[in-house]
Amino acid sequence: MNEEIKKFAKELGFHLVSIIPAEWLKEDEKYLTEWIKSGYSADLEYMKKEFSKRADPKKSLPKAKSIICLAMNYYQERKNNSKDAMVARYAWGKDYHGVIEKKLKKLRRFIIENSLKSLTKKDFKLYSDAGSLLERAFAAKAGLGFIGKNTMLITKEYGSWVFLAEIITTLELDYDNPKPINMSCGSCTRCLDACPTKALGKPYVLDANKCISYQTIEKKGDVSVNVNDNVFGCDICQNVCPHNCRAKQTDIKEFLDYRAGPNLCANEIENMTEDEFAEKYKGSPIKRAGLKKLKSTLKNMLLS
Ligand code: SF4
Ligand code: SF4
Repeated sequence: MNEEIKKFAKELGFHLVSIIPAEWLKEDEKYLTEWIKSGYSADLEYMKKEFSKRADPKKSLPKAKSIICLAMNYYQERKNNSKDAMVARYAWGKDYHGVIEKKLKKLRRFIIENSLKSLTKKDFKLYSDAGSLLERAFAAKAGLGFIGKNTMLITKEYGSWVFLAEIITTLELDYDNPKPINMSCGSCTRCLDACPTKALGKPYVLDANKCISYQTIEKKGDVSVNVNDNVFGCDICQNVCPHNCRAKQTDIKEFLDYRAGPNLCANEIENMTEDEFAEKYKGSPIKRAGLKKLKSTLKNMLLS
């Protein structure tokens, strides 16, 4: 069934697929514990809430046997050099949560219909960013890439410009036996040097409190660091990564269907009503920040 699953996943648009046993990643859990203890998770309360589920798939699905790890390339070139109210690349098009969730559901249906076992939806847990799973750690374990000093998963084929997704299932499958990927950061420190807020103070450790992505999207209230020209998210530590010379234009049409990217019009946002915002940015990830937050971030940008 493995090859059929992989073939169908690719037909759906996933670019990388690997299947591994649903095992507890104890070392990664230790790392997460230390990271949270050090206060680096800021007020991302959801990181603490479902903590025990993050590294152990059986905490979410007790009879879990397998994890199907998937990655989807979202890279697209910035066609202008405008530094006005920049939006992180992943948020230019349609909200990836919805796009990927639909594809995961189709893949689940395919497995249910084609498996010799009698399976129901209860035999699956689907994840893409929103759930409680250490996605990068499982993707690395599955051989999709390695985790760089900027804490991103870096793939051989697409660099770090990938969305990750996973399906945990009670179905036993043949497992890929990925060899450790023959790539690393080596002595490079470009991302640490380029991060304008020093959120990457140490290799492999991100301080969310200082990170422009957290500040402009998740943080409640006004931003408290200089976000430079970034109004929603930040791509700096990915833009400078030499492994991203492998970036390829995505073929996922929903990501090419621009809603917010690559720049917002500051003047337009400043004068927008909530109704206009809801209408114009329907289906865009920037709704996560909300109009009030975007207006306050733009104001801070002008003052700094
Ligand atoms: S996203 Fe931006 S602010 Fe956050 S670590 Fe990377 S470069 Fe620094
Ligand atoms: S910029 Fe250099 S140090 Fe940072 S993730 Fe890329 S290769 Fe690693």
